[in-house]
Parts: sequence; structure tokens; C-alpha cells
Amino acid sequence: MNTNQIEGASKRKFIDSLKLQGISNDTVLDCMLNTPRELFIEPALRSRAYDQDALPIGFSQTISSPYIVAKMSQLIFEQDSMTKVLEVGTGCGYQTAILSSMFKKVISIERIKSLHEKAKENLSKLHIKNVKLVYGDGYQGFRSESPFDAIILTAAPKDIPKKLIQQLSVHGRMILPLEEHGTQKLYRIKNTKNGYTKKDVDDVLFVPMLEGID
Ligand code: SAH
Repeated sequence: MNTNQIEGASKRKFIDSLKLQGISNDTVLDCMLNTPRELFIEPALRSRAYDQDALPIGFSQTISSPYIVAKMSQLIFEQDSMTKVLEVGTGCGYQTAILSSMFKKVISIERIKSLHEKAKENLSKLHIKNVKLVYGDGYQGFRSESPFDAIILTAAPKDIPKKLIQQLSVHGRMILPLEEHGTQKLYRIKNTKNGYTKKDVDDVLFVPMLEGID
């Protein structure tokens, strides 16, 4: 087998494993197939790019596991009319890249300057143009671009950040891990005219969402 065949086989396995874990949305699966995860990972770990693991990206942070990225993407992608999404916790930019193929516009906030810069580099290698990367504190959201059709948090707060709820459009949804009594759960929030509904969808493990910038 040559390198391309090996790569093709490991990507097929990668997609099959996501399907087995319940990822069924074709748009999400296409984006997972076509986004080179190896680009977001340090060279020493690249042989593990298509394993199902979260991996270190420096600064005590991780690139989320492929399953969790696909799951969160699938949970927000419900209507074709959703155009603008906010991500809190850019990290190395992998989930950002996936979201950029699904939505017209993506805003992504990161509180660690070096990761913000790294994500900029990674996304420019892929010629991604519909993403605005912001260095700042995600607890503040990004009011000038609000309201958002969807908001994704890739770090876990202890309470649902109020300012983020305020920046969600009337029928928008928010996917977030919440730290509760020492464990974490993934929730999907649906906004309505009369307040929001909250549904528990999975057990998860994310890094904590911290206040302020580094
Ligand atoms: N989305 C990334 C996951 C990165 S890990 C991926 O695709 O792999 C979560 C990131 O959230 C870390 O980089 C961390 O620095 C960041 N983070 C934590 N609290 C934050 C906050 N208040 N505002 C913005 N980013 C935050």
C-alpha cells in the first residue's frame, strides 16, 4: 500500500467509527472526512490524528476527540437557515474548521493568546475565510456580531453564562458542557420566545472554562 492508500484506509475507519458512535448527519460526516485533523496536531502526534482520542495541544489544553466535535456539530445542525455560529474555546482551531464548512460565518473566541495565534496559522493554511478569530474572554460573548443561531462551548463552565444566553437568537441553540458536582454533562439548550429549554445529552470531559484572558 502507498501513503495515499494508507491514509484513505485510516480515514474510512475514522468515519466508520463515528457512524458506529451515532453520528449520522451526512454534512457533518463529510466535513469530518474532508478536514485534515493532522494539520492541527504537533508533528510528533500526527500518526494518531485519525484515532478517536483527545490529544494535547500545549498550555494544558487539548484538541477535542473527533467524536465530541462531530457530536456537538450534529447537535446544532438542524435547520438549513442557521447561518452564524459562535464558538467559545478555539484551541488549535479544529472544531472551528469543521464549523466553517457548515455555517456561513463563524466567530471563535480563545483566552490564551498563543493558541489564538496558532489557530490563525492553522486556518490560513486551509484558506478558510469565513471565520473571525477573537482573542478574549468567552464569558463576554461577542455582542457586535450577535444574535447567533448557535453557540458552542468547548470548555466547561459551572453555570450557563448569562451574556451568552442573551446573545442567542430567538430560535437559537447552545451546546455546552456544564460542571456539576464534580462531573460534567453535555447540554443542548433551545431558545424560545418564552425562555429556554435544557436537555442533558451525554456525559463528557472538557477543560474548565476560565474567566479573563491569559
Ligand atoms: N475547540 C477546540 C477545543 C479546545 S480546548 C478543538 O476543536 O479541539 C478548550 C479551549 O477553551 C482551550 O483552548 C481554553 O484555553 C479555552 N477556554 C477556556 N476558557 C475560555 C474562555 N473563558 N474564553 C475563551 N476560551 C476559553
